[in-house]
Amino acid sequence: MIILHPESLEAAVEMKRQFPQSSYLSGGTALLSLLSGKDKDSCFIDISKILSAEIRKEGDGVRIGGAAKLADIARSEILPEFIRKSAGFQSSLQLREQATIGGNVALARFDSYMIPSLFASDAVLSLISADGTRDLQVDEYVLSGDKDSIIESVYIRSLSDGEAKRFARASHAHAALTAAHSGKRYAYGISGSGFAFGDKDSYSTVDFSTDLTGSGDYKRYLASVSFKEVR
Ligand SMILES: Cc1cc2nc3c(=O)[nH]c(=O)nc-3n(C[C@H](O)[C@H](O)[C@H](O)COP(=O)(O)OP(=O)(O)OC[C@H]3O[C@@H](n4cnc5c(N)ncnc54)[C@H](O)[C@@H]3O)c2cc1C
Repeated sequence: MIILHPESLEAAVEMKRQFPQSSYLSGGTALLSLLSGKDKDSCFIDISKILSAEIRKEGDGVRIGGAAKLADIARSEILPEFIRKSAGFQSSLQLREQATIGGNVALARFDSYMIPSLFASDAVLSLISADGTRDLQVDEYVLSGDKDSIIESVYIRSLSDGEAKRFARASHAHAALTAAHSGKRYAYGISGSGFAFGDKDSYSTVDFSTDLTGSGDYKRYLASVSFKEVR
């Protein structure tokens, strides 16, 4: 295994351009747990020391550094309660203290802890790649499939209250559905099936598939009742 240690984000994205098969390494909770003997030639670009982990007020919103840990987000008193709750969906204390928001968003797992809540709070990602810097809404980032940019920070534009839910057989089991809303912004992450972003009924366009977390019909039902009482 090769681990590169760039001294700046600019140097990191240049390394990524030179070694397209490499991966950025932040908390390592997902990347390192996937490693096995056959991955001995893997190349990682360690960005954990060069990314900000600060969570601070900025304008009308809150900026979260890409290296902020889920545990810090869960503890932050300047973030809406439902975003803090989403970070707490990682039930393991050790993983929560290690896992970063940048890594969580970049993974874009359909059972994502953070992506539904970030969409609900109208979050914008600040990205850096070899082509320069740009801002992208969280749903646009997920749909773009971009694996070359570094998520430098996440800007929460709306600090309004909301709700976040995670449906799983146990806190440490894979979730069938994660969902969040704030005002009229709704997002659903459906295991094995995809994301839905938009209004309350946006889940209805998803092709719900069956996997170890439950049947397609079960997941569709969960999505339909997640925010049933909200008008
Ligand atoms: C047992 C277990 C259960 C888990 N369950 C869930 C779950 O239910 N839902 C869920 O969402 N996650 C889950 N995870 C995944 C993971 O712990 C979190 O998503 C975590 O937040 C990833 O952050 P990290 O910093 O550890 O990422 P890393 O492991 O360092 O990296 C993960 C990926 O993100 C990329 N990356 C990292 N940081 C950045 C960045 N700043 N910019 C761009 N790309 C970046 C890496 O190249 C890599 O592809 C689980 C992990 C484990 C080990």
